[in-house]
This record gives sequence, C-alpha cells and structure tokens, in this order.
Amino acid sequence: MSIRTLNCIVPPHVLEHLRQSSDTAVREAALTTLLDTTMLRGQRSVRGSLLGLASPAQGRRTVFDCGHRTNLATAVLARSEDGAASADASVDQAFDGLGSTRQFYGDVLGRNSIDDRGMRLDGYVHRGVRYNNAFWDGQEMVFGDGDGRIFTDFTGSLDVIGHELTHGVTEFTAGLEYHVQSGALNESISDVFGSLVKQWVRQQTADQADWLIGDEIFTPDVDADALRSLKSPGEAYDSELLGKDPQPAHMRDFVDLPDTEAGDNGGVHVNSGIPNKAFYLVATGIGGYAWEAPGHIWYESLRASTATTDFQGFADTTFSKAGELFGQDSVEQKAVASAWGDVGLPVSCAPKGMRSGPSGGAGGGGDPLGDLSRQVSELARQLQELTQQVQGQPKPSGKGGRSGAGRA
Ligand SMILES: [Zn+2]
Repeated sequence: MSIRTLNCIVPPHVLEHLRQSSDTAVREAALTTLLDTTMLRGQRSVRGSLLGLASPAQGRRTVFDCGHRTNLATAVLARSEDGAASADASVDQAFDGLGSTRQFYGDVLGRNSIDDRGMRLDGYVHRGVRYNNAFWDGQEMVFGDGDGRIFTDFTGSLDVIGHELTHGVTEFTAGLEYHVQSGALNESISDVFGSLVKQWVRQQTADQADWLIGDEIFTPDVDADALRSLKSPGEAYDSELLGKDPQPAHMRDFVDLPDTEAGDNGGVHVNSGIPNKAFYLVATGIGGYAWEAPGHIWYESLRASTATTDFQGFADTTFSKAGELFGQDSVEQKAVASAWGDVGLPVSCAPKGMRSGPSGGAGGGGDPLGDLSRQVSELARQLQELTQQVQGQPKPSGKGGRSGAGRA
C-alpha cells in the first residue's frame, strides 16, 4: 500500500500562505482544503483498480454533481455523453473541458483518451464547501467551487482541466514518479499539454498564447496573473495574500525541498518552472503553433521516458526525438538544443557549438551547482524511500501539510 497520488492544481505552498492570512475566512478555507486533501491522500491507493477501467468506452464523458458533499459515491448524474446540456454552468464547463482535452489528444496526437484505449472520462463538480482545489485521482477529475474570495469555480479553466487529465496520460505512458525531478517533470508535462489544449482550442500561435496556467481560477479581487507562467516562471504572482511565485526558470536556481507533502514532494510544482521555460523557448524558437512540432517532440519524448527520468534525461530525449522526427540539424532540433542550454541543461548529445543558447554564455558549459543539487536531491529521495521501507509504510500526514512551518 502506498500513499494515494492526488494531483492537485493548487500547490501546497499557495495554500500554506493562505493559511496564514489575517483574514479568518481565507484562513479557514485554506485549512479546510489542506486538511481535506491530506485525508484523501491517506485513503488506499486506487492504482490497483486501473486495469478494470481500461475497457473501451470511446472516452465517453459523464459529469456528476456532488451537491457540495465530499463523498463522490453520493454524487448524482448531471450530464452524460449524449445527454442535453445542463442548467448548471459548472456541469457544462467540466463536460466541455473534458471533451476539448479528449479531442486535442485524439486529433493532434492520435491518442484515444487518457489511456489510448478509450478510457471513460468522469468529472465531479461542486465538491465540498469552499473547496479551493481541483484534482485528478487516477480515476476521475474532481472540481471544487473555490471559496469565492480567492478562488472561483475551477471548471472555468480549460488549461487546468487539460493539466489534470494529462496527469492521467503521464501515468499511462512514462509513469513519472511524483517526487523531486521526475515529479517536477510530471508537473511540467501537465502544464505544457494543459497550455497546448487551450492554445489549440483558441487557435493561437506560440507568440499569441498567454502561456498561463489557471488564470481563470482567481477571483477578480486577487492580484495574480495565474498559478504559473511557462513564459515567465517566478512571475505569475507576487502579493501579500499569495506570497511570491517560487518557480525557478534556470537550473542554477533549482530549489531543494524535502520529499514530503509539506515540501511539495521535493518541489514538484516549483522546479517544474525549469522544463516549462524550456518548452516555451522551443515553441517560440520554432514559431507557429506550439502543438505541432514542439508538442509532438514533447509527446514522443514522454512516451520514450520512464518512471525515473530526470531533467537531463528528458532534455536529451527531446533532442534525439527532434532529430528522428524532423532530421538531424533541423531547425526544430537546433531550437531544442538552444532552449535546454538556456535553462542550464545543455543536451549531452548535441554537437559542439549547439550546446549553449543563442544568447550565449549563461547556460553553456554545464552548471556545477545544478549538478550538485541534482545529486543531493537524488540522494535525499533515496534516503526518504529507504526510511519509508524501514518503517513499513509511509506516514499519511505526519509532519506534512497542516503543521508545516509555513514556507512563504
Ligand atoms: Zn499537477
């Protein structure tokens, strides 16, 4: 038995900051969300039941209404694939978002739903009261309504839906372990394809796209562009209420965090800024629609990755995939090499002269500090794994989550 993997859109560091707000209502909603999520994680892993879900269903959508309860089993059917539109905007937004994501994967990448075998898509709306999150739990996508103060209805953001369902795609392909570098890569893959779903629906080029994740989930009163920005990691928000966006955009700024729930599993929502920025640079370097060459290179690299692939491994894979798909020394392959060089991860198989970015200098020639921090992270991860094995089973909440020392 393992801790259930719950892929939440709002990372713990944001909720931790809100938990310390001077506003009681904000604090309470944040605390409820943290507590609730921690309890959910403590439930049995659902991984074992995945096989039963893989039966062909042509990706049929079903949306259920939780009626503000937290128990999904008591939710009522609100809309099915062939059913009429609902009077409830959240139901229809969830239904449409699931459909757009399914269609993006089918039309653009030739993938038949999450598992490539027509897995059905279930969405649950109006979960809980003032629940400040949305998540994918391996089986279904679940949406809170938000507290109305900071966050609003999570069904309103297409990139959030694309992000969450992509966690399912990753689970069925590389299966990237959800901690430290493989976990940050997992998060980044979800941000990349979540953004691509939105760009594809809007028919925007890389230059036209906003590259934001979750810009619609904040109420108008909140001074934040979004939860994350692939274009400018670290600049999505900076306010007293939310704190400052902690994402780095370069390996020299890689953030070492403990591989615990309070530490965001080693900073999976933090260090994802580095591969996010690399994808943005590839997309704008090549130009045009980002779901075309860049999206295909990333998708094929995801399919060629494994559970423990790290940033460097993924960078190298994108370089070789770009060569396979578009030719050695192609514009696409050069853009890939240049982008990774710019974020401090020069691809190890690139010929000389292609390793550093066009701006020269900054990323070229490796990054000893980054290498060191990678090793430290990997050792910390192994140590954590070992400790868990020795203890017999991981702690469901323990020092994590709510009693954390508040990282602003
Ligand atoms: Zn995620």
